[in-house]
Amino acid sequence: MLKYKNIAFIGAGSMAEAMVSGLINKAEMSPDRITAVNHTNEERRIELSSKYKIQTVAFEEISLRNKDVIILAVKPKQAEAVLQRLKSVLQDHHVILSVLAGISTRYIEEILEKPFPVIRVMPNTSSMIGESITGISAGKYVENDDLDLAQELSKAIGKVKIISEKQMDVFTGIAGSGPAYFYYLLEHMEDAAVEYGLDRELARDIAAQTLYGASKMVMESDDSPAELRKKVTSPNGTTAAGLQALKENGGGDAIEKAVKNAARRSRSLR
Ligand code: NAP
Repeated sequence: MLKYKNIAFIGAGSMAEAMVSGLINKAEMSPDRITAVNHTNEERRIELSSKYKIQTVAFEEISLRNKDVIILAVKPKQAEAVLQRLKSVLQDHHVILSVLAGISTRYIEEILEKPFPVIRVMPNTSSMIGESITGISAGKYVENDDLDLAQELSKAIGKVKIISEKQMDVFTGIAGSGPAYFYYLLEHMEDAAVEYGLDRELARDIAAQTLYGASKMVMESDDSPAELRKKVTSPNGTTAAGLQALKENGGGDAIEKAVKNAARRSRSLR
């Protein structure tokens, strides 16, 4: 179904590019069905059209007549201005997807004033390599077919979970912001390893593969993370010593606070 749709991205930044790349390389969409629209950056338009063979235009030259799906991919603070301008060019058949962090479907529906199907899509930066976990939630005018389409489209950049809009803030706290927590963890593992004599590059490879392996274990095993942790922790062993330092220094609390703080920030963006 997705293959035969024409898609316009409003905003041509890093998130739009990740989705374009997934749609072409993973979902095998034809590039001539994809258009990316930006504001002023002509160099970026040239870059995207030569890299992906998609059409790119400035917002002023936009025509959405033959488009089926409109994907909002500007910054949240640009949402109101962009929606006000889009309002006059949108047509009844359009399905609207929004990747804007913290912007509710209700906010978008109210500005558009007409009963457009609006679906929130929250990917993360791992969409660049097709490994996002993307949360999607439906606005009040969304039909099953619209949701199927959003799901199909999101699968082009990784895995998908359908969630309620109330859960979107905590989803953002775990998945949207989550990659940065793991990068931070890796930075510190790397620093400690360098201090104890490893080359930085070697330390990075080791830490990253360890995170990848642990993550895969969680996904492929029937055990919970706590059970897996217990299985690798022998009394008085090296892992027990490492975990003790983590606990004594508030490691668990810090992680929980990070998720909650990001979720609160997401809530405050509306
Ligand atoms: P970005 O790289 O800054 O891109 C923003 C794009 O919006 C630019 O192409 C910009 O064009 C365009 N734009 C601004 N005003 C416009 C207008 N009036 N008309 C048309 N285009 C306009 O942003 P991003 O990182 O891709 O993020 C986009 C959205 O994705 C955000 O709302 C963010 O919350 C969401 N998101 C991002 C991530 C992530 O990991 N990056 C994860 C989840 C959700 P010019 O350059 O020409 O000004």
